[in-house]
Amino acid sequence: MSRARTLLLLAALSLPGLPRAAPPHPIGIAVDAAWEKYRNLDEGKNASYIPALARVDPKLFGIAVVTVDGKTFQKGDVTALFSIQSVSKVVALASVLETSGARTVLDKVGVDATGQVFNSIVAIEQHQGREMNPFVNPGALATTSLVAGKTAEEKWARVLAIHEAFTGRKLGIDEEVYRSEAASNERNHAIAKLMHAYGRLYFDPVATTDVYTRQCSIAVTAADLAVLAATLANGGRNPITGKQVVSPDNVQRILAVMATAGLYDDSGIWLYEVGLPAKSGVGGGIIAVAPGRFGIAVFSPPLDAAGNSVRAQRSIRDITATLRANPYEARSAKP
Ligand code: GLU
Repeated sequence: MSRARTLLLLAALSLPGLPRAAPPHPIGIAVDAAWEKYRNLDEGKNASYIPALARVDPKLFGIAVVTVDGKTFQKGDVTALFSIQSVSKVVALASVLETSGARTVLDKVGVDATGQVFNSIVAIEQHQGREMNPFVNPGALATTSLVAGKTAEEKWARVLAIHEAFTGRKLGIDEEVYRSEAASNERNHAIAKLMHAYGRLYFDPVATTDVYTRQCSIAVTAADLAVLAATLANGGRNPITGKQVVSPDNVQRILAVMATAGLYDDSGIWLYEVGLPAKSGVGGGIIAVAPGRFGIAVFSPPLDAAGNSVRAQRSIRDITATLRANPYEARSAKP
């Protein structure tokens, strides 16, 4: 372009009334920076106890943020589908809270951290199936068994429908992951049977385990999970569809369980360092919720020893710090 034309263009750009490029948004800047910083990080390993998860491309990495007023910020592989795994435990909990109430979850499942690994049989024995929470497998199976519906198909339809309400789109399951987990699911079957033996599972154990396995196999993207997280940040109203998915009172309870038990055995460290209620899944997804502000979701398959995505944890930690979104940050009144 000639110098004269460039000058003319610059003059035109500064004329009042002409549209100008919006300045970059702080959330967009934070998302881009975290993605750039961690894209080449090579730590952790895909989950392998579910064989299909070991085959997912470990390089996939996407970050998505949705604000409570529906603004979206994304970077990387945010449209790659992956299995939701334990992030679905948040959604199943929401379903049971809505249909059966807070008391039912408290009495029939429990809401305390067990201090044991997520699929611990020792934890069941310790309290004879009591004192679980909806995010460890015994409590998650009990929660799924409480989903409204007389048959497994009715329960499954309800589980899928509430995932769709949270993400704002039609969803399906990742058949390969479902088949892979169903074929290697002895431990979850054992957990369901033991819970049933203690009277702490409220539907047929084999059928419950199947609905639970399907629930964990729902295929989502980081973009979907950011909408889900933003719905929780927004008092239960999906900021994209405008639909009230879960009541504000129940959101408060869900976030409490996410804060205490969302990141497996590292939930305490997470709260200590990041402060946001979050939930992780062995598929490599993590959601985190900044109440009243935004929801964030990151997908990256390699996990650390506790089972949490390495890149997802680091990205969310950085973004939370940059945006000063830790709800425990000291904010004293001005003298
Ligand atoms: N479907 C997995 C299981 O039950 C979910 C594990 C997870 O994401 O924590 O083992």
